[in-house]
Amino acid sequence: MEQRQSGPRRIAYVLPVYNEAEGIDAFHAALVVATSTRPDLEFEFVYVDDGSRDASVERLIGLREQDPRVTMLQFSRNFGHQIAVTAGLDLIAETRTADAVIVMDTDLQDPPRVSVEMIERWEAGAEVVFAQRRTRKDTAFKRATAWGFYWVLDRMAAVEIPRNVGDFRLMDARVVAEISRYREHDRFLRGIVAHVGFRQEPLLFDRDERFAGETGYPLRKMLSFAASGILGFSTTPLKMISRLGYVISALSVLMALYALFVRLFRPEDSVPGWAFLGVGMFMLSGIQLVMMGVIGSYLGRVYVESQDRPLYTLAMVARESGRDGTHRG
Ligand code: UDP
Ligand code: MG
Repeated sequence: MEQRQSGPRRIAYVLPVYNEAEGIDAFHAALVVATSTRPDLEFEFVYVDDGSRDASVERLIGLREQDPRVTMLQFSRNFGHQIAVTAGLDLIAETRTADAVIVMDTDLQDPPRVSVEMIERWEAGAEVVFAQRRTRKDTAFKRATAWGFYWVLDRMAAVEIPRNVGDFRLMDARVVAEISRYREHDRFLRGIVAHVGFRQEPLLFDRDERFAGETGYPLRKMLSFAASGILGFSTTPLKMISRLGYVISALSVLMALYALFVRLFRPEDSVPGWAFLGVGMFMLSGIQLVMMGVIGSYLGRVYVESQDRPLYTLAMVARESGRDGTHRG
């Protein structure tokens, strides 16, 4: 929570890299140009190599030789983008070496100049500045699936997760410290950031096309990522089991009434045993679903407990000094 007393304020960039050898030099050059507009700040560029199979690591070592502000973490294998970002954030949280952190992709889809605008918003008081895509240069298919995903997420998630927002954002050091308290393995960082709170502001930007190489997020990874978003922030799918059970049980009651009606008023239409089988089938499957829902609600609680998230995050403590037991004369 404390501000560093003296010296320039420090900004750390957390930059996940997966098979970006072709574009990484151009990216770093663009980042250096953008950040050189702020000579009053100190920068650190933390590249996290997520087990690249190309020459990314050699390129990063090359960058480090030219620019001592470059830090590199290399994973032993591919752990995934969200984990790579987490490793960079952890490094900053543990060493407390920045006043703010900017997370961005290294394929030049997130323009470095936008990150400098984020710094200005942070200086004006924002604690999280997230880049929101005004336009996206993606295929119609990707746009449609993204839209559907956000539609579902909006309805299910317990916290509001902003739309069309990736992981390109600036976070104050306090926010980074909080995020590193969330240790769930299946990570959906943008949800965690929303969960943490603080003063969050959107910054509209136009997302560019990938500069070189190809996406590390094929459809398979996208789907499992979307599932992490929904399952990590909602137990609604479990609750839907019992809802379906109630609907089917209600249907069995309607069916019983219908069977009674046929029996009383149109006995010539009734087939022996029909009512028993029909109503029984609906009623039994209804009851089974309701019971599964009961198990589901316990499971939901076990799940939330096992995520073991912080119960709350304090933004400020205003209290008479000395009450914390540490006397100051
Ligand atoms: N990335 C990563 N690990 C992965 C996949 C991607 O660290 O397993 C990095 C990648 O180098 C890039 C960022 O995450 O900096 C976003 O990935 P990508 O551009 O492939 O995703 P898209 O923009 O297509 O959603
Ligand atoms: Mg990309």
